[in-house]
Amino acid sequence: MVKRFSVMFILTILVAIAHSAAVAEAGDKAGSPEPVFKHSDVVFMYASDEAAYKAYGATFVAWGGANSKERVKMHHDLGIRCTGSMWCLTAGAKTLYENAELREAVARDIEGKPIEVSWLFDHTYKDMKTYFGCTNHPAFREHSRQQVRQAMAGGADGLHIDDHLGVAQAATAFGGGLCDYCVAGFREYLKKHATREQLAETGVKELENFDYRDVIRKVAKTRDEYMKVQSKIPLIDLFRQYHLEAVADFVRELHKVGEEAAGHPILLSANACLPERRHVVVVKYLTHVVCEVSFNARQGTAKPDDAIAAFEMARSLGKPMAATASGWDWSHIKAKNVEELVRFWIALTYAHGQWFMVPHPQRQWCFNNELGTHWYQAPIEAFAPVYQFIRKNAQWFDGFEPIDASEIKTPANVLCTARRKGESGPIVLHVLNRDYDAEADRMRSAKDVRVSFPKNMLEGLSGSARLLSYDGDGEDARIETDGDTASVTIPELRLWMLVVIE
Ligand SMILES: [Zn+2]
Repeated sequence: MVKRFSVMFILTILVAIAHSAAVAEAGDKAGSPEPVFKHSDVVFMYASDEAAYKAYGATFVAWGGANSKERVKMHHDLGIRCTGSMWCLTAGAKTLYENAELREAVARDIEGKPIEVSWLFDHTYKDMKTYFGCTNHPAFREHSRQQVRQAMAGGADGLHIDDHLGVAQAATAFGGGLCDYCVAGFREYLKKHATREQLAETGVKELENFDYRDVIRKVAKTRDEYMKVQSKIPLIDLFRQYHLEAVADFVRELHKVGEEAAGHPILLSANACLPERRHVVVVKYLTHVVCEVSFNARQGTAKPDDAIAAFEMARSLGKPMAATASGWDWSHIKAKNVEELVRFWIALTYAHGQWFMVPHPQRQWCFNNELGTHWYQAPIEAFAPVYQFIRKNAQWFDGFEPIDASEIKTPANVLCTARRKGESGPIVLHVLNRDYDAEADRMRSAKDVRVSFPKNMLEGLSGSARLLSYDGDGEDARIETDGDTASVTIPELRLWMLVVIE
């Protein structure tokens, strides 16, 4: 099950400390020889069939579907790396109904009551609802390890962890994370991380028998009361941070379990929904991020800011991100039957150095209030040409890194990013038209688009330029100079043009 409401639950808690620690750690690893992805890689979200893989030039499947030797071999024979996937959110209603031990191992509120996963209200079994599992409870932890062993039994290249926040999600947004195991874990966390002053302010004299629920009960006896006053409860920031770190440690443990099951080192991803800060803590343990980002589809191309913030944050954390749009975005695409907007998302994502996962031919997850979960079947012929363009022009994607584009000038409604190979190699400008005509589902074609930039960007280059697009023939272009400024003019900009400067 994919993530659904993250935007609604964006918390204001700042885990800036964890963020900077992750940045530092990523920095330590800079220069590691083998990147997880080449930029020309084409990533499927879920597994698909051979025809679709070939149409898109697939090289990676990010979100499971290869948990047996046969499935792994099928992918490898096609030159595709693949993954197993497991779910940290819940054991599921049916398993909870059948397994008394796992029924105990659910997230609990201040009253000791289990917490239902609100967006899975329709996932019931007999009279059993879907409750959050507790990733601090030994029984749910063993259940999770067992899922990893099954997912990786075929020896897949990577493990994907879905809903990696586990009980931290219940603790930070739904009044949970208060079972005996969680409270005992928090006690140990405080011993290491709480200052004397913090404890004194809370009236804690000794930690040996400290039970955080006693602090909470002084101001809130029920979950409803707790949710209202939560942010004012003493030590609450440490409590949330404890949960985020505890589940990140568990993700790290699952990585080891996966490697043992696979019999070799594996990649590790989670749907860490950047830029939401709750998701930052785990990122340092991942090899890459696989997640949904919001493109605000209902506003056309006007507000891709959240998506761009996610791309930039992943880059600052030193991890590649394979992204798709949110279920809300996809429900708009399906309802309006539009495609150009999706091609804009693909181009925008690659222009920012990340990967937009192939719009799935059978199962692209959509969500809105009217229909709940539903699915979009993305037509291959609408999107495969964009990916084939990327595959065919791998030399202008692979090994390029972003360079400062703040001095680059374009007309209104045109976006531009700049990427360069090495210190003095060729430069590629990614020029995107965002003048979207929603009625026609087309970008309004722009003529003679002048892109200007400081002339000193050309130092060490011969100054030849070539224009490349997925929907047109390549053509040479002239770079003109005027004083300290250089410029190139694109005769017609439809959606996305690469300006290759050598
Ligand atoms: Zn718990």
